[in-house]
Amino acid sequence: MREPYQLAVDARDARFDGVFFVGITSTRVYCRPACKSRLAYDHHRRFFNSAAAAERAGFRPCLRCRPELAPGRLDAVSQLARDAVQRIAAGALNGRAVATLASELGVSERHLRRALERELGVAPHELAQTHRLLLAKRLIVDTDLPMTRVAYASGFQSLRRFNAVFRAQYRMPPTALRRGRRVPEQVEGFLRLTLSYRPPLAWEPLLRALGCEGPRHERSVQIEERTGLVVVENSAADGHLVADIADSLLPVLMPLIAGLRRVFDLDAEPAVIGAHLAERGLAELVARWPGVRVPGRFDGFVSPDEFPETERRLQLMAERWRPWRAYAAQLLRLAQPQSSGSLRARDPLLEAPHLA
Ligand SMILES: [Zn+2]
Repeated sequence: MREPYQLAVDARDARFDGVFFVGITSTRVYCRPACKSRLAYDHHRRFFNSAAAAERAGFRPCLRCRPELAPGRLDAVSQLARDAVQRIAAGALNGRAVATLASELGVSERHLRRALERELGVAPHELAQTHRLLLAKRLIVDTDLPMTRVAYASGFQSLRRFNAVFRAQYRMPPTALRRGRRVPEQVEGFLRLTLSYRPPLAWEPLLRALGCEGPRHERSVQIEERTGLVVVENSAADGHLVADIADSLLPVLMPLIAGLRRVFDLDAEPAVIGAHLAERGLAELVARWPGVRVPGRFDGFVSPDEFPETERRLQLMAERWRPWRAYAAQLLRLAQPQSSGSLRARDPLLEAPHLA
């Protein structure tokens, strides 16, 4: 019987986007599972549970499927690893020490290193470097920003360092990525970036949950001393959101992208969530609103499914429920649009006898 990873690659299954990456040993390139490039032989495939692990092993990102655009993966790792990953994605290790991050997370540096090594197969600085390189790669391909601005916006401390790291890791100069690319569409004064997700995405309910009136989400953002407007729309056919980000926000791009991914819950795995909820008797609602998301907080690292300390029963079930409960609540909220009041106060799922 073939391994599930092999089957997912054979089927170019987008549900596994960002869940794992496949490195092709004959070309030393790594891909998203759904890459449309020619399929490699089984024995030429190596599987990695993070882009950083593939890069550690000497693979460089595919220019066709662009692993830098894959959604992140948070559901399957421990709370510590996901907190660390989110903070690193937001720039926590740009010019800062691993020890500082560890103390912010309330653990020792050694504990943090071991957790990331075990769950993602990488060291903290490798994860940070991959984030910086992949963001730089996106900015090179998708914008016309000068290289100096690309370097700083993606968290490098100098242009020289950026050039050196890029060449060492990808075996080409950064400018090589601009040759022959399609000139990106941009709005004056804004930077246009895409934010990918694993389809389906219930966009209308998500907008409503965020209090939006029209078909797009607009927010005025402040990070550190930087302020500016961000406008986000869904491009459902492409499986990504399109974000127009005011130029003034460029220096805080890493925390900004991390914040937007949380707000729209873009790292969720709807296929897995849907299957779990269907098992618990919500199949009808899952079918009615496929890809429901739980909006997260822009400026905090609190998971959408974090429970109040006082809810003892929820705490006991937390691991088993994470993060399904929050999605169930969202579906139930949709099914009862006229009801008011918070779902936390009145949670029909919690009352279900088979879950107690
Ligand atoms: Zn590829």
